[in-house]
Amino acid sequence: MSELRELYQEVILDHNKNPRNFKKLELHSHHANGHNPLCGDKLELFLDVVEGIIKDISFVGSGCAISTSSASLMTQFLKGKSIVETRHYFEDFHDLVTGKELDEEALEGLGKLAVFAGVQEFPARVKCASLSWHTLINALDSVDEPAATE
Ligand code: ZN
Repeated sequence: MSELRELYQEVILDHNKNPRNFKKLELHSHHANGHNPLCGDKLELFLDVVEGIIKDISFVGSGCAISTSSASLMTQFLKGKSIVETRHYFEDFHDLVTGKELDEEALEGLGKLAVFAGVQEFPARVKCASLSWHTLINALDSVDEPAATE
């Protein structure tokens, strides 16, 4: 577990300092805002979905290191994935950060995102880590309201 914790800190520091896909997408098919009032994290997510595949995905916003790095990793991870896969990954990621048991296949499927298992130890941080994912689902469902983590 300490190895995972080290990796967790490394990944979060890296992606917080240098977030990937941090920009607006002028051309996008889906878009949503997310807000985590508990911590003050805000983000705006953009997706360009073509024939059920995420061709491009990006975000802007301001938040704590965990929400920013989670959004950054998520965009990197989901580019090129299908919407159907993406919804499964959302379930798996949600189980991961809330401390539910994941089978090995699901855990391997999440790749680098698995480091967010580290937030289980900090319940207040679960909402920070999952904000981008809730916003993603809202964007895909085209709900035109800010995603709430409550
Ligand atoms: Zn936060």
